[in-house]
Amino acid sequence: MTYDELRELDSQYYMEVFGERLPVVFDHGKDAHLFDIDGKEYVDFLAGIAVNALGYSDGGFQETLRNQIGRVIHTCNYFYNEPQAKLAQLLCKKTGFDRVFFGNSGAEANECALKLAKKYAFRKGRDTAKFVCLKNSFHGRTLLTLSATGQEKFHTAFAPMAYDFITIEANDMDAAKAAVTQEICGVILEVVQGESGVFPLEKEFVQLVADLCSKQDVMLIIDEVQTGMGRTGTFLAQEKFGVKADITTLAKALGNGVPIGACLANAKAASAFTGGDHGSTFGGNPLACAAGLYVTEKIDGAMLGRVGDLGGYFKSLLQDLMEKHPDRITDVRGMGLMLGAQLSEKEDAHDVALGLLKNGVVIGTAGCNTLRFVPPFVLTKGDIDHLIDALEVIFS
Ligand SMILES: *Cc1c(COP(=O)(O)O)cnc(C)c1O
Repeated sequence: MTYDELRELDSQYYMEVFGERLPVVFDHGKDAHLFDIDGKEYVDFLAGIAVNALGYSDGGFQETLRNQIGRVIHTCNYFYNEPQAKLAQLLCKKTGFDRVFFGNSGAEANECALKLAKKYAFRKGRDTAKFVCLKNSFHGRTLLTLSATGQEKFHTAFAPMAYDFITIEANDMDAAKAAVTQEICGVILEVVQGESGVFPLEKEFVQLVADLCSKQDVMLIIDEVQTGMGRTGTFLAQEKFGVKADITTLAKALGNGVPIGACLANAKAASAFTGGDHGSTFGGNPLACAAGLYVTEKIDGAMLGRVGDLGGYFKSLLQDLMEKHPDRITDVRGMGLMLGAQLSEKEDAHDVALGLLKNGVVIGTAGCNTLRFVPPFVLTKGDIDHLIDALEVIFS
């Protein structure tokens, strides 16, 4: 099928939630490179939105999936399943959390986290459905996670929202002190706000919120759907901030493209759920967990070191580019392989992304005119040089 035929078919039958999509159809990939249906090669700095951490041609990953498909894909949660238990164990080992629940997406992982915090408050005899979230956060597209998303543009048509979310400014210490009381079930935040433009929170703020939550005995939920699985150079980004949440969520890179999300909790939080409180038909099925197990094993010390090194190299080149073109790039943010370049007002991030696509580079955009780079961890320095050269051509 040609691009034009596919676009026509899509425009007839698919719901119009994505607007006009980007003008390319991918056929296959190798390492951190993608090939479209005409054979044109692209270097990929989007990774399916921070999903394909291991790239497109990890032989062991493909073999693991083939094996599991050959045995059984799905059994449902009436039965124990080995990949599920083993993945739960490995995630706990790597993160220091005590228990895990698997769903199929980031939003579902957060939905579980919020329900767990609500149930914890309920068990404490607290009659509250209040939470604190941050302005410019993003936590998903289900009604509850949308309610937790501190961006009005997502709410308008869907109000009234679920539960009661108090939105405070990121890094506003006084607002946090006023809002974190026993009147709330918990706080939900991303330590690096991804969708709104790659904004790391201030360490002191995150530590203060963690402290307040602990003193008030309310749940700190850290959404690591995007930052987790080594994206920032540590297995969880919260390690960099010197805090430990009560509940943490993972999803994007966990299955390297096979849909899976995880809600991790410490023993205190996890004990709030009892039989019948939560569930999922597909969540944690043998195929998704076999994928997750392979990825989680693969993200070891060496891989984290690689993400840190490549991220440092990449960020310094972006900073050089900003120095050369201060009228075009005004800020470079992020950590590890989760980086953003803020464009000046005269630039349009979407146009830059389209220009790069023509030149064989795939990137994402985020928030307020930000170029967003979340490449596969298997990319090379040469791939980074290639992107910087392509940006140089566009800016010169
Ligand atoms: C992508 C994302 C989500 C939503 O994940 P889905 O799999 O699309 O439901 C939630 N939180 C954060 C921080 C994300 O980046």
